[in-house]
Amino acid sequence: MSAKPVGQQLSSTASALREKQAAHPLGDEIYDALLADLISLRIPPGERLSVDALARHFGVSQTPIRAALIRLESEGLVLQKFNSGFSAAPLPGGDHFRDTYAFRAMIEPELAGLAAARATPEDITALEELCHEMSRLAEESRPDNFGSFAERDNAFHARIAQIAGNQVAAEALSRLYIHSNLFRLRYHATITTSAVSEHLELLDALRSKDAAAAREAMARHLGHSRDRVEPFFIED
Ligand SMILES: [Zn+2]
Repeated sequence: MSAKPVGQQLSSTASALREKQAAHPLGDEIYDALLADLISLRIPPGERLSVDALARHFGVSQTPIRAALIRLESEGLVLQKFNSGFSAAPLPGGDHFRDTYAFRAMIEPELAGLAAARATPEDITALEELCHEMSRLAEESRPDNFGSFAERDNAFHARIAQIAGNQVAAEALSRLYIHSNLFRLRYHATITTSAVSEHLELLDALRSKDAAAAREAMARHLGHSRDRVEPFFIED
C-alpha cells in the first residue's frame, strides 16, 4: 500500500473546493470532488483512500468522508475491504464493457419508445435542461467537468427509463452506473459533443411522441457511444 498522503494526489478540483469552501464543504460537494477525481483518473485505480487523510484534506470530520465513499462504493467506483479500508475500484474489463452495452441495447431503446408516449411537458423540460447543461460542460471541456458531465448523462438516461414507467427496468439500469465507469477511462471532447447531439435527436423524437424514432435514436446513440469508448478499453 502506498504511504503517500492521499491529499497530495487529489486534484485541483478538490483543492479549489477546499479554498472555496474552507469552512465546511457539504457532503454532496465532497462526493462531487471525489467523483470528478475518480472519473478523470486523477485518483488512479487501486489507490488507497484514507478516510483520515481525506478528512484532513477537506477540513471536515470523518463522517461526511465515509458517507461519500460509501455512496461511491454503491456506484462501483470505490471498493471497501475488511481491514484495509477504501480504495479506488479497478477499471472494468472489456467483457464487462461489451456485456453492459449489449444489455443496454436490449432495454433502453424499448424504454425510449415507451417514454415517447408518456412524456409530460415537465419531463421534456427536465430533459432539455440536462441537454443544455451537458452542452455547456462539453463546450468548456475541462477535466474538472468529467464528473458533472457523467452525472448528467446518467440522469438523462435514468429520467427516460422513469418516464417509460417500468420501475424494475429503471432500477436495473440505475445499478449499472456505466457512464460513471466509462468516463473514468479517457476523456475526449468528441465523446461529449457527439453524445450531446445524439441526446438532442432523441429528445426531438420524445417531444413529437414518435415512439419508432425514439427507439431508433436511442439504439443509434448507444451504438455510437459503445464505438467511441471501445478503443480505450484494455482487453481482459
Ligand atoms: Zn447518453
